[in-house]
Amino acid sequence: MKIIDILKKNKMSLSFEVFPPKKATSFESVKSATESIAALGPSFMSVTYGAGGGVSQYTLEIAKNLKTKFNVSMLAHLTCVSSSKETVKQRIADMKAAGIKNVMALRGDLTPELIENNREKCDYHHAIELIHELKASDADFCIGAACYPEKHPESANQREDIQHLKEKVDAGADFLTTQMIFDNNLFFSFLYKLREAGVTCPVLPGIMPITNANQVERAIKLSGSFMPQRFKSLVDKFGSDPDAMKQAGIIYASDQIIDLYANGITNVHVYSMNKPDVAEGILKNVSAILGKNFV
Ligand code: FAD
Repeated sequence: MKIIDILKKNKMSLSFEVFPPKKATSFESVKSATESIAALGPSFMSVTYGAGGGVSQYTLEIAKNLKTKFNVSMLAHLTCVSSSKETVKQRIADMKAAGIKNVMALRGDLTPELIENNREKCDYHHAIELIHELKASDADFCIGAACYPEKHPESANQREDIQHLKEKVDAGADFLTTQMIFDNNLFFSFLYKLREAGVTCPVLPGIMPITNANQVERAIKLSGSFMPQRFKSLVDKFGSDPDAMKQAGIIYASDQIIDLYANGITNVHVYSMNKPDVAEGILKNVSAILGKNFV
């Protein structure tokens, strides 16, 4: 099913994200974790794309497997900046052949090599070029794109960032998913600015459950996202007790999701990070309040 059709139903949706193995040797354990998450019955699932390297085909393998075994709608991520046109076109053809109907069109992060080796020579510079490529293919993909409530780190200011975002939507992105947020107010004010700028498509807040103290630094470094004091206090207090920190992280993320639903947001995406127990904990908490009102 196309994700835009799920998002436009007048019901709540909760989706889970997983990532492919970084090494061929961990394929079976990742496959098993993603299957346990799919068995929970999320509204849809997404699989990230490890830019470059020889293991990027696992995105499609994981997506295909979950779609076939669990009949769950799948969103396959694809990045472009470190790939040639030929590779990207091949990946698009492979997705079409595998029956994948939803693609998250991303630029990918700039590695030091890409920055050094004169990016002008790259086949792709921004996600919008991948959106054009997907639109030009003969597959009728539903297209997602990334957005940043605290602006993309490379953007000079939020106004410019939102302008480029609008260009992605005008080029054919059907929906947007945000970078992880730990403070819902940032999402609400971002959404207001998007609507003001004429971006009218569904926007999914991305919620990252932080369930161990080591994750905190990595998450901030990767995303640059603001950590509210309320969350920092949880980590200070429970960070050295793994079981307590895990429960605190699940409860914090569940609380964010319930607050989003309570304030009229109907679609929420969870960075569930191949952790079935975390996904299950969140789903239990949210369902206890909202019942089975999910798509
Ligand atoms: P773009 O939309 O190209 O934006 C990047 C920067 O360029 C922004 O500052 C933007 O304002 C600016 N810009 C955009 N268009 C133009 C233009 N035409 N002219 C000038 N400037 C422009 N990375 C992975 O490797 N694999 C994944 O699976 C993955 N999944 C992600 C999922 C989500 C929801 C998010 C939020 C991020 C994800 N990322 C992933 C990370 C992403 O690749 C990086 O954040 C990357 O740095 C930017 O990607 P983008 O698609 O937002 O790029």
